[in-house]
Amino acid sequence: MNTTRLIFSTNRVSDVERCFLDTLKELYPEKEIRSFFLMLCEAFLGWDKVAYLLHRSETINQSDLLRFHWALDDLKRHRPIQHIIGHTDFCGCRIDVNEKVLIPRPETEEMVEYLAATANRSATNVLDLCTGSGCIAIALKKLLPGSNVVAVDISADALRIAQANAEKNCTGVEFVLGDVLQGAPLPISSDGWNLIVSNPPYITLSEKGSMYRNVLDYEPQLALFVPDNDPLLFYRKITAFAQQNLSPDGLLAMEINERFGQETLQMLRDYGFTGELHKDFRGKDRFITAVLSSR
Ligand code: GLN
Repeated sequence: MNTTRLIFSTNRVSDVERCFLDTLKELYPEKEIRSFFLMLCEAFLGWDKVAYLLHRSETINQSDLLRFHWALDDLKRHRPIQHIIGHTDFCGCRIDVNEKVLIPRPETEEMVEYLAATANRSATNVLDLCTGSGCIAIALKKLLPGSNVVAVDISADALRIAQANAEKNCTGVEFVLGDVLQGAPLPISSDGWNLIVSNPPYITLSEKGSMYRNVLDYEPQLALFVPDNDPLLFYRKITAFAQQNLSPDGLLAMEINERFGQETLQMLRDYGFTGELHKDFRGKDRFITAVLSSR
């Protein structure tokens, strides 16, 4: 317990926060440190923002103080805050994460919100490829309660987390172990899928140099990277599968690397699709929706 006292001058929450701000100021912007601290107060003390404002001058017990101590240590090592608290919010669903799955991103939330807002609400059959934490499948099932949602991933570890996430969010999503690149075994829907959605790996290995340690050191390479010489690897496989397995009025939606919007549109045309690019909140090309041109 002495080490804890060494780091924090007192047990007062405001002093603990001051120590976070001082210790981490070279590593993160102040606003981000404050937001980490609030997330930790919520996770460790059960405080929302109002409780924090009311109680920040109070002291906390030694075991809670120790948790802040370890969290500070983790943040110094660039460990993602979502790993420290064990979960993140995605479209209003609580999604547990660890190093086996990609942490859901706000860009992906935007794609899901768009799909839920534009989907045909009746009897939607949805297939999510490369599901990871299950966030897309779970949020779509929540937003489109009448839908039948199946989700695939190559990683059994990821599927375990996805399954637990679906149960915690009370959503009945069916999970299947499958390899998109091998094309098998990918689930078939007898009437065709109304929506095939995916956030596959899309960062080229040469982009590693410009990435942050919180991603590189803690998130699964399997979910992130594709070879430089074939950045659309997953997209071609998914598009070829969609060409055969979408319902006639079905929609294909894929999150993309902002660098390859035009190439992805062209590839979709080669497979008989008409695609549309959508920008994210940063103004970058972030996802594509496509329908079969002949429909
Ligand atoms: N958007 C993620 C990132 O920036 C990458 C997601 C992916 O490769 N599918 O780290």
